[in-house]
This record gives sequence, structure tokens and C-alpha cells, in this order.
Amino acid sequence: MNEFEFIDNLDDALGKSQIELSIGDDAACFNDVLIAKDIMVEDVHFTSEASIQDIIFKLFTCNVSDIAAMGGTAENVLLGLSIPSDRIDNKQLIDAIKSAAKHYGVNVIGGDTTSSLSSIFLSLTVTGRKGEHLLKRNGAKVGDIVCLSRPIGFGSLGLIQELESEDFGLPPFLHYRHTAEKELGTFLGNANGVTSCIDISDGLGRESTHIAKSSGVKLVINAEQLPIEELSKYSEDPVSLMLESGEEFALLFTVNKHRFNDIRQNIFTSLGRDIIEIGVVREGDGEAVLKTGEQETSLSVKGYEHKI
Ligand code: ADP
Ligand code: MG
Repeated sequence: MNEFEFIDNLDDALGKSQIELSIGDDAACFNDVLIAKDIMVEDVHFTSEASIQDIIFKLFTCNVSDIAAMGGTAENVLLGLSIPSDRIDNKQLIDAIKSAAKHYGVNVIGGDTTSSLSSIFLSLTVTGRKGEHLLKRNGAKVGDIVCLSRPIGFGSLGLIQELESEDFGLPPFLHYRHTAEKELGTFLGNANGVTSCIDISDGLGRESTHIAKSSGVKLVINAEQLPIEELSKYSEDPVSLMLESGEEFALLFTVNKHRFNDIRQNIFTSLGRDIIEIGVVREGDGEAVLKTGEQETSLSVKGYEHKI
């Protein structure tokens, strides 16, 4: 069974929760507090060659990113560590935790530590403050503009290089250092006209499909709008790379078309950066497609899924 089928089955079995937002989005929300959890397992999310600094940074990134994807601001974390005694230098581990927490401006307020027989297992629970608007996956409306926060694709290239299938001459382990969009998430949660948001952990194709399904619409990603310039230097099929690349932690979001120019301009003024228009929301029943000329191809299987 894949992870998404399992989560759907679990959600059905548990029935409706009383809290504002529970299973199914990037974070849950109750009493204006956002809460999310991500785990990382050796040989699944990182190799034994990766440094503890890179692994811990990525753990913080994926959690802070889930709060940003709700339009909130990450504040506190609880850290779960399960580490074989002979594997990690404690000082390096503490420095890594301190520096990741400092980078994202979050407090480590608790956690749990255990030994482990052979492999490293990490877990982080993050809480965050809700913005003015909760940016769920289910709010995309027909006519909205689909936006990407920054170019993506180097996650895949970094991973291919790490697994030594091909050397692109890129810095090693660069994909561990992708950053969460903390400031942009906070901005989007306080802007008027952002209708849905998700972070890219499993690939643009799969995340577009999540928004399309939750919102009951069709997401059309225009191939010619995808920012493939840099990727084209490394790949003959940069579009596929961009659609499938996971653990990017860029944000994918939809914006009311009448608000798009204002929001883009305000992001430029407040954060000194741009966002990228990559498509449009059409009427539909939960599908995301890539439009190349007049041809449309389904994106639902583009990306990564865990099997359990
Ligand atoms: P993300 O990629 O944003 O971290 P996931 O795809 O891991 O999100 O999870 C999707 C949704 O399913 C989230 O709301 C998450 O909290 C929920 N979920 C995932 N695994 C479990 C689990 N084992 N028990 C309960 N809820 C889960
Ligand atoms: Mg997420």
C-alpha cells in the first residue's frame, strides 16, 4: 500500500475530528496553533555518508516548511533522536541542532532521546503561529493563477549525484541545504487572495495533484512557464526533472487572478524577491496536468511515494 492510501484509510477509520483542521493538510490547526511532524530515517531520507549537520538541517527544514505551507510561522520544536552510540560525535550533534534552530528562529522546547541498534532515526514536531488566513490545500478556485516560489529540480540532481549514478559537478549534498520558505509562508498567510498552498516534498506533479484533488478542480501547469533555464544545463529533460524532484521545500500556491499583480509586487517590495507564475486553475475533478502546446498529460504519478 502506498503512504497516501494508508493515510486515507486511517483518516476514514478515525472519523471526523473536532479540531479546526486535522489529517490531510501540511499541518493540523487548533486554537490558532499549527502543528506538524516529519520523520527522517537513514537509508530512506539520507545516506550514512551525509554529515549530521546536513541531516539535522534537513529535518528542521521539512518541518518548518510544513508550517510555511499553511501560511503560518514556525516557533517551537520537539526533537526525537534515536542514534546508535558509536555513530555521532555529541558535540557535533548539539552544534547542528543549535545552528538549525538559530537559522529558522525556532525554540527547541523538548523531545525524546533513545539508543538505536544500527541506524539513525529522527523525528521533529513543530508548532507554529497561524497567519490571518489558513492556507489549506482545498481552496483553489477556477481562474486562479498557479505559482511556484522559486525554481526547483536540483533536489533530484543532488540525489542522483549522492547515489553516484552520475556526477554533475555540483557541490556534494547540496540537496540537504534547501531552505524552507519561512518568510514567504508568513507573508502569504497574511496576504489577501492566496487561495491554497502546499510545500514541495514529493514533487511538483504530486503536490499539484494534491491541491487539485482537495479543491475539486484541475490544475494546468504550462510547460513553457516552468523556470528550466538553470536545469537545462544539466539535463536533457529539465521539465520531467522539475516535475519529479522531491524534498525541494519550495511552495506551490494558487492566487486569485485579480490579486496576483499586487501580491507579486508586495512580495518584491517586502521580501526583495519574486515568485513564478506556472499555470492556471480550470474546472475539473481533481487532476493536475502538464500542458505542452495543445497536449495535456496527467501529472498524478510524477513524484515520490513511500510504500508501507
Ligand atoms: P507532508 O508531505 O506535507 O509532510 P504527508 O504526505 O506526510 O504530508 O501527510 C499528509 C497528511 O497525512 C498530513 O496531514 C499528515 O499529518 C497526515 N499523516 C501522515 N502520516 C500519518 C500518520 N501515521 N498518522 C496520522 N496522520 C498522518
Ligand atoms: Mg508538506
